[in-house]
Amino acid sequence: MGRLDGRVALLTGAGRGIGAATAARLAADGAAVAVIDLDVAPAEETADQIRSAGGRAVAMPVDVTNPEQMEAAAARTAQELGRLDILVAVAGITRDNLLFKMSDEDWDGVINTHLKGSFLAARAAQKYMVEQRYGKMIFTSSAAALGNRGQANYSTAKAGLQGLTRTLAIELGPFNINVNAVAPGFIETRMTQQTAERMGLDWEQFKKDAAARTPLRRTGKPEDVASVISFLVSDESSFVSAQVIYVAGGRGIG
Ligand code: NAP
Repeated sequence: MGRLDGRVALLTGAGRGIGAATAARLAADGAAVAVIDLDVAPAEETADQIRSAGGRAVAMPVDVTNPEQMEAAAARTAQELGRLDILVAVAGITRDNLLFKMSDEDWDGVINTHLKGSFLAARAAQKYMVEQRYGKMIFTSSAAALGNRGQANYSTAKAGLQGLTRTLAIELGPFNINVNAVAPGFIETRMTQQTAERMGLDWEQFKKDAAARTPLRRTGKPEDVASVISFLVSDESSFVSAQVIYVAGGRGIG
């Protein structure tokens, strides 16, 4: 018996990386999952993998910055999977640049995807959770919330998500909804791989350097974040809310 048996989870940005690993983990824990991604192919791939492992999953191509699409995805989840207990907002992008080179598009794209996308997902999901007096929300902050060179847009968004977490924990707590955030450090995904490429650095060396700066002397894997989320959305942590859990091997960035 899994600790999420009978629960239904909706995950954004679940076509790859941390989101895909978390969808697989929650499904292995017994939850039925709605897999949201910008593109249909990665969403379908995650859902297929879950189904082949014996889990229950539906794929939904959704842009988290689009309010109508996000509302429709929450409604479809509740309709097709029966309820909506868990929201994990993971969708994210980077558009790194030093301030003097950062364009309006770099700023707006990152702020909209992380901040507005998480707000829209939370607003769409809360109505089902409030009605059933049960819910778990997780936002994806970052160690970069503490400040990181070349990431004014991203660090601001990730710090903003910590404010969203604490505020929604206050507003939704009376309805038995727990709201927490994870703040990963260096995790091996396409996002960090693209950062290495953009900086013209060798991926293996980039990871080695990151590991050397980390007290636990390694970089993270998507599964390291997924297992913490699995705990936070379970009833084993039912008195934990408004927390930001750093999954960063013991370090901030810088
Ligand atoms: P990733 O592999 O690039 O995955 C990001 C996912 O978000 C992709 O599947 C992407 O879809 C999706 N996405 C982007 N924009 C979207 C939109 N508008 N609507 C719906 N989905 C959208 O990156 P990751 O490393 O797993 O990152 C996941 C989250 O963790 C992000 O919020 C990131 O900021 C955060 N994080 C990552 C690290 C790290 O070291 N990797 C550290 C701290 C925090 P497509 O690929 O289909 O475009």
